[in-house]
Amino acid sequence: MSEIQAEFELSGRTAIVTGGGVGIGRATAAMLAEAGARVVVADRDRETGERTAAEIAEAGGLAEFRAVDVSQRLEVDALVEATQSAHGRIDVMVNNAGIISDAPFLEISEEDLDRVHAVNFKGVFFGCQAAGRVMVDQGSGSIVNLASGAIDVATPTLVPYATSKAAVAQLSRSVAVELGPFGVRVNAVAPGFIDTPMNERHASGPDGRLDPKKHGEVLAARATMSPLGLTGEPRDIALAVLYLASDAGRFMTGTVLRPNGGATMPW
Ligand code: NAP
Repeated sequence: MSEIQAEFELSGRTAIVTGGGVGIGRATAAMLAEAGARVVVADRDRETGERTAAEIAEAGGLAEFRAVDVSQRLEVDALVEATQSAHGRIDVMVNNAGIISDAPFLEISEEDLDRVHAVNFKGVFFGCQAAGRVMVDQGSGSIVNLASGAIDVATPTLVPYATSKAAVAQLSRSVAVELGPFGVRVNAVAPGFIDTPMNERHASGPDGRLDPKKHGEVLAARATMSPLGLTGEPRDIALAVLYLASDAGRFMTGTVLRPNGGATMPW
């Protein structure tokens, strides 16, 4: 194995990926497993979570499913405790689970605001705290939190989502400062538009199913936001997570990495 390969190698390490059943979480879980990690695919959706874990195992990786609702502190604590007692350590915590809601600002209900922040912000907070305790005891670990390009660009109808993601970015920096002296790195990844189930709502027909024509139009329109003319795929984000999760990212903490095809730079 070359020195470069060794820096990305995760053999003998344990990783948790929340929201690992589909989309970015699924691609991330698969990539961390391909790099050698034992991966806990944690999701509130048992069917997709079990499927991802099975796909990883079929490909020769080490994976298992655990159910979690990240908005519930006790469930996140239980996920981390169960993982630590099963595997002895937690080296990587990817707080990826997230939800989105679209509504004009003046019509956003308190329930909707709380619902989005409970998953997107509190879920990440709980994940950082629970995994952070284990990692501080170990004297090592890497936490990667999913923010969004919505922290850079003000987008209409996304106030609960954008504010929850801005909080994730600042949470990551704040926790990085506190846990750095214990050997724990904390970073955020802020993806641009990625073709995942989360974004199918932009391309569904009247029956709620994905409309292939509309889907193609949405992807083409999003590609124009990048100077590269590209739309991102879940794998593009997984690669950024792998970098931060592995020893290749040993000098990285408190950063917000922006794999977004250049979409949010001023140009
Ligand atoms: P996705 O396709 O909607 O998948 C999210 C996964 O997380 C689903 O399996 C979902 O289950 C699960 N989940 C939702 N709430 C949960 C909870 N409370 N506890 C446990 N699991 C939960 O999302 P994605 O597009 O892959 O996005 C992943 C992350 O990247 C999110 O944090 C998102 O905000 C962020 N992001 C995405 C994009 C993009 O363009 N896709 C851009 C920037 C940032 P259900 O199916 O049951 O909801």
